[in-house]
Amino acid sequence: FEKEMARLDQLNLVGEMAAGIAHEIRNPMTTVHGFLQIGKSNPSNLSLEHMDLMIDELDRANKIIKEFLTLAKNKTSDKRRHSLNRIIEIIYPLINAEALLTGKKVNLQLEDCPELYLDEKEIRQLLLNLALNGLEAMEAEGILTIRTFCKEKHLVLEIIDSGNGIDEEILKKLGTPFFTTKDNGTGLGLAVCYRIAERHMARMNVQTSEKGTKFSVYFEISEGK
Ligand code: ADP
Ligand code: MG
Repeated sequence: FEKEMARLDQLNLVGEMAAGIAHEIRNPMTTVHGFLQIGKSNPSNLSLEHMDLMIDELDRANKIIKEFLTLAKNKTSDKRRHSLNRIIEIIYPLINAEALLTGKKVNLQLEDCPELYLDEKEIRQLLLNLALNGLEAMEAEGILTIRTFCKEKHLVLEIIDSGNGIDEEILKKLGTPFFTTKDNGTGLGLAVCYRIAERHMARMNVQTSEKGTKFSVYFEISEGK
């Protein structure tokens, strides 16, 4: 089935985010504080595993803050004429390396299309967030396809995975900040994607079935900014 995603209500978003951020940052702080307290009374109580846990927790907090900043920052995008395909090719090695680590494949199907006004950093982030979600949704042997093509007045970007699809209950919540079904997820990746799409006046939608999920982003092809 197909479902067009509702745009995020920005006002709601800020309130939800503030509460979420406080909660999400506090957890790692509590963990690290607790371990340091233990270590202070006797440093030999602190094992390497404790240290690894603290590092993981701090990394997670850092990731949340980084993604939150992308979502919250109000600076206007730095849009220049770019070939979307070129940005995909630049970020591809990173996605491919991640795929290889878990025995998956990445397949590029890039059609020649006109250049667009894009904020390169934001588009890299959008690609990475969607691609990583796709990879995370698949078992080993899975194939992630990144496609671009022109259709009427749109340049369409598709990120297609061969995972098990998204249940309807979960589908409704996509893009809600901090909504995650993963143990180490932040639940900010898609919220950031919707925000970036919006900043580019692009529409994003998702199609899913038990054979996989496709995220499509429709950029308008036009001469102006
Ligand atoms: P995170 O990846 O940190 O969980 P996201 O905002 O990127 O946060 O995604 C939110 C949730 O949406 C994921 O936890 C997952 O349940 C679901 N999701 C996103 N993309 C996919 C996908 N391609 N296939 C299946 N589920 C997905
Ligand atoms: Mg994600």
